[in-house]
Amino acid sequence: MNPIRNIPAVHEIQQTAVYQRLVTNNIPEIILKDWITDILSDLRKNILENKQGFTNLSREAISTKIQEQLRIKGNTYAPYKLQRVINGTGTILHTNLGRARLSDQAITRVVETSKYYSTLEYDVELGKRGSRHDIIETLLAKASSSESAMVVNNNAAAVYLVLKALAKNKDVIVSRGELVEIGGSFRVSTIMEESGAILKEVGTTNKTHPFDYEEAISEETSMLMKVHTSNFKTVGFTKEVSVLELKQIADEYNSKNESNIIIYEDLGSGSLYPFKHDGIGDEPVVKESLKHGADVISFSGDKLLGGPQAGIIAGKKEIITKLKKHPLARVLRVDKMTLAALEATLQQYVYKDGIQDIPTIRDILQSKEEISKKVNVFLGQYKAPDNVSLEPCETTSQVGGGTMPLVEQPTVGIKMKHQKMSPTELEKALRESSTPVISRILDGNVFIDFRAISMDEITLLLDTIHEL
Ligand SMILES: *Cc1c(COP(=O)(O)O)cnc(C)c1O
Repeated sequence: MNPIRNIPAVHEIQQTAVYQRLVTNNIPEIILKDWITDILSDLRKNILENKQGFTNLSREAISTKIQEQLRIKGNTYAPYKLQRVINGTGTILHTNLGRARLSDQAITRVVETSKYYSTLEYDVELGKRGSRHDIIETLLAKASSSESAMVVNNNAAAVYLVLKALAKNKDVIVSRGELVEIGGSFRVSTIMEESGAILKEVGTTNKTHPFDYEEAISEETSMLMKVHTSNFKTVGFTKEVSVLELKQIADEYNSKNESNIIIYEDLGSGSLYPFKHDGIGDEPVVKESLKHGADVISFSGDKLLGGPQAGIIAGKKEIITKLKKHPLARVLRVDKMTLAALEATLQQYVYKDGIQDIPTIRDILQSKEEISKKVNVFLGQYKAPDNVSLEPCETTSQVGGGTMPLVEQPTVGIKMKHQKMSPTELEKALRESSTPVISRILDGNVFIDFRAISMDEITLLLDTIHEL
């Protein structure tokens, strides 16, 4: 008999124990209905195509198949697609896991600004319309030691706006050693093409000299652009031209030719905190770039700054004014939640009282001893089931987010073994638990790095592992 006839009706499936359990687990019936539709249509297709295992199926066999499918879907169901996870990779600025987490102050401000009306574009003194730029400008300028500043959706948008507003149809000179691709398919050359600016490549991959720029500069030039090669380093026989040198080249040309070639630096991660003073990496600090002569700079809000996703543009007042007036500024503007989070985060820098409250900064500065403390708290509360063994383990971790590629910081975590699961199966099981735990495989074992796990996540991590 044709097994198609053995496919049960939807109401029959709804009477099975599996279905009833999913309902009890609060999975909305509208979702369950979609699952059943999908399962039944796959089943029909497989039967019609005589797929292996789908011929001559009895009514019972089909029902078992459907219930099994439902059970699997139920096990991996999460009420939201955007789910909280525990970052056990040790990578603090993990782009796939949302980059920087916000400080408590920033979160409070986001909640308040979203829950109530706000002065987003309202001047209480005048009782009239205000500008959303004003909310953040003074603070941003202070934090970056610039004349003026503004914020757009992300740094990719910032680069696009700067090039489009200041260099469209004109030459922009960039070193071949700085034509980078940043994660998430951001390429300087592509953005430049989109903006209508004309890319003039100079130098070679490993070496670019001041004379390379001097030879390329002409009346068609609008800008000398420097790009921070965030996620890679050229080592060995290398030479790059500093902002200081670029400034000299531009100044000299400008004074001879009465032109106005500007220096733009895309700083990428844009650190406001001098990590190198703590012996961590050699990331440039935002204000150094401006001090050395950049006319305009841009950087991300959610990398080393530790704030919300945003692109910050800072520099000369006349340049920022021009950018603000460009129609694209309206297209790329940020919403009130971003402004609220950014304002709170920047205040923590400017008033200097809350830098340690910014999770990104705190986690990068964390010593091995501090991480060890968290591991010990975890192990102290862990009730070992027979099939899982855990032991503390030391290794190194990276900052991530395409920053400080060569920095390997000492870290501590736990090595995990399961009697019945292979390391890859265990890694998958952790990843697919009710709160996904993202781990990595280290020397053939599952390793959960505690650098990016905070003290307040330990109970949840314990519960999740006990669930296994
Ligand atoms: C990360 C980065 C970008 C893109 O910034 P987003 O905020 O991710 O849009 C651009 N340029 C450089 C040099 C970067 O490191």
